[in-house]
Amino acid sequence: MRPGFLQVTEIFYSIQGESTWMGLPCVFIRLTGCHLRCVYCDSEHAFYGGVPMSYDEILEAIRRYPCRTVEITGGEPLLQKNVIPLMELLLRQGYRVLLETSGALSIEAVPPPVIKVVDVKCPDSGAFPSFYFPNFRWLAPWDQLKFVIRSWRDFTWAVEFVRAMDLIGRWEVLFSPSHEEFSAQALARAILATGLPIRLQVQLHKYVHLAEDERMDPAVWDVIRSRRVPGPGSRAPGTQ
Ligand code: SF4
Repeated sequence: MRPGFLQVTEIFYSIQGESTWMGLPCVFIRLTGCHLRCVYCDSEHAFYGGVPMSYDEILEAIRRYPCRTVEITGGEPLLQKNVIPLMELLLRQGYRVLLETSGALSIEAVPPPVIKVVDVKCPDSGAFPSFYFPNFRWLAPWDQLKFVIRSWRDFTWAVEFVRAMDLIGRWEVLFSPSHEEFSAQALARAILATGLPIRLQVQLHKYVHLAEDERMDPAVWDVIRSRRVPGPGSRAPGTQ
């Protein structure tokens, strides 16, 4: 990718659904490409395709939405090195910046003020083991570690990981039931039984179901649609 450009799948405005910022309005920049294949992935449309957009074009797109919180997601956004200057640019312009990442790549270069929501892939994720352990060095106190739970094996492993790595009190720990695969009620009971302050979170946006034309500004959509070259497995942008 040329300097100053990123491969983008979509830029849309919705409700943040997967962190302690859950429920707040947020502009999402979904970058293209991921090297993992989690079995619960809901972003396969970001694996291929996408369109090249300059930093200026991305900034122009997000300014169309009435919101000062921006989340960079994917795919795996850290696969594109040009994402780091974009984060710096957004911070300089006064945006609150969140980053969703798989936990499999180094977060060392991510500017510290960025709020990082870092996955720890569990045994039944389909992307295990992938956690990059040196990342503990670069997590800030406001960052969050997220475990998606598909099975009791995942739950047991995740609790052991939380204890062994002494995560409680250092970072927010989130356990999220894999949507329609694991019971939120069962997970809630199991978290209570641990006695640990683990935060249960559900993927809120999957309950809200905003339509794509409610979330994507027509002008942003036009840019993406006009440049899009579909790749294998790609589908229309706008699904969250
Ligand atoms: S890391 Fe995220 S985008 Fe990549 S396969 Fe897993 S869930 Fe999907």
